[in-house]
Amino acid sequence: MKFLDLEKRLVDRKQRGLLRKRKLINSPQQPQIICDNKTLINFASNDYLSLANNSKIANVLQQSQQEYGFGSGASHMICGHQPPHKKLEKTLAKFTQRDSTLLFSSGYMANLAILQSLSGKGDVIVADKLNHASLIDGVKLSQADSVRYPHCDMVLLDKRLSKGKQNKFVVTDSVFSMDGDIAPLKEIVRLCEKYHAILIVDDAHGFGVLGEYGRGCIEHFDLDQKKLPVLMGTLGKAIGGYGAFVAGEKKLIKYLTQTARSYIYTTAMPACVAAANLENLKALIKYPERNRNLKSNISYFRKFCNKKNIPLLESITAIQPIIIGDNQTLLDVNKQLLNAGIMVGAIRPPSVPNNTARLRITLSAMHSKGDIDYLISQLFKLKLDKLEVNRND
Ligand SMILES: *Cc1c(COP(=O)(O)O)cnc(C)c1O
Repeated sequence: MKFLDLEKRLVDRKQRGLLRKRKLINSPQQPQIICDNKTLINFASNDYLSLANNSKIANVLQQSQQEYGFGSGASHMICGHQPPHKKLEKTLAKFTQRDSTLLFSSGYMANLAILQSLSGKGDVIVADKLNHASLIDGVKLSQADSVRYPHCDMVLLDKRLSKGKQNKFVVTDSVFSMDGDIAPLKEIVRLCEKYHAILIVDDAHGFGVLGEYGRGCIEHFDLDQKKLPVLMGTLGKAIGGYGAFVAGEKKLIKYLTQTARSYIYTTAMPACVAAANLENLKALIKYPERNRNLKSNISYFRKFCNKKNIPLLESITAIQPIIIGDNQTLLDVNKQLLNAGIMVGAIRPPSVPNNTARLRITLSAMHSKGDIDYLISQLFKLKLDKLEVNRND
């Protein structure tokens, strides 16, 4: 280990304001959480519909545990595939209006699977520059060539696609995780059709949020299976659970089952987790008012931030970032918010480009207007509109 000099590397990261620290949360995930014996209003979670602590889950877990125990024992291909997995896949397929879906243990693994399985030597993957890390790693894992286009730049996407005779894939987040903006999927679909490219979309932050029924980007942009053949969604965000899925036509799912290494060579998610995910998916379908509450909170937050000149990015989603700029200023600002009893995401490079360290504020269905008023009053105190010198976006 000596030549690694981990100590020096850690000190170096600390000096650059890049050292990250985990906080211990002593409560369920919900709008109020307990951290270091202090109650904080939580604006940092991806639990957009406030389903992570759904009161119905305890019963579901207990029942499923009685029927199927806890561990799944093996991968899906060996003997880990159980009825709750099958039911969840079926319900997801119906909800996303796709032929079929395949469950994964996480979104990270689903993205690795898609890119490793579908693209190979001689192909080219065309990717948005701000794609999620798991998509970037998936591109590395595949044997295909890759090229990036500037964030949501359709002129340059067109240009990239117009070159070469290789089979092409276009890969993008639907809602960008650190910016909250939405990819122009209508235009991307048009370009994919023009150049016969296959479109892959990661709907981690769109699923459950976009659309009146929370079907995600496919509802927001009206994208059937033909327009968007490879859809990935996660269960750890708006669904408030754990895991992910890929949805598409039957032969796509069949092929992934046969070839996706992060599907084949890993233990299946426990059946009780699948059952709990299903319960939350049903809650999302049955109670669209959760989605409506979230949207009402988003517009309320934006309206009053604008009134107070708090510099938000353009975003209609649950992700509402404020660019601060340098790392140390971000940490200072974040500390002030923590002292005031507010938890937000403090996001630094390499999660975001250099000099764009930011507060990543996320809203959920169960935040009260009072929670949001308090957040805005504390943001206002930071005089973020006067921070112009450090903004470098
Ligand atoms: C969170 C996230 C993932 C990874 O999903 P997990 O289920 O947490 O592994 C993939 N893509 C995007 C855009 C994400 O935000």
